[in-house]
Amino acid sequence: MDRPERVITRYLDADVLEQAQSEAERAFRSRERAWQGLVEVRLLHREADDRLCRCGTRFDRCEVAMVAHRYGNLDDWELDQVRRLRRGDWSALPDRHPAR
Ligand SMILES: [Zn+2]
Repeated sequence: MDRPERVITRYLDADVLEQAQSEAERAFRSRERAWQGLVEVRLLHREADDRLCRCGTRFDRCEVAMVAHRYGNLDDWELDQVRRLRRGDWSALPDRHPAR
């Protein structure tokens, strides 16, 4: 049988570990929500017909589109989420994403 202080140490470690894991999960979810929001904005501000943005502004003048299309990593994230969806895994793609 463990000495009492060793048991306490083990529980403290488990507690610290659990805290670190839930913190990591929170950070992960928060990042996923940020990407999800940015993808949603980009869907609303993409080039439609006649060089117009879907919001009606000329695409090359839409400031929202300029911001939303600035993040190259977003393409990788979006592609990864589409792949996840096609595999039948959980995906963070916004509900109104065309791949859904
Ligand atoms: Zn726009």
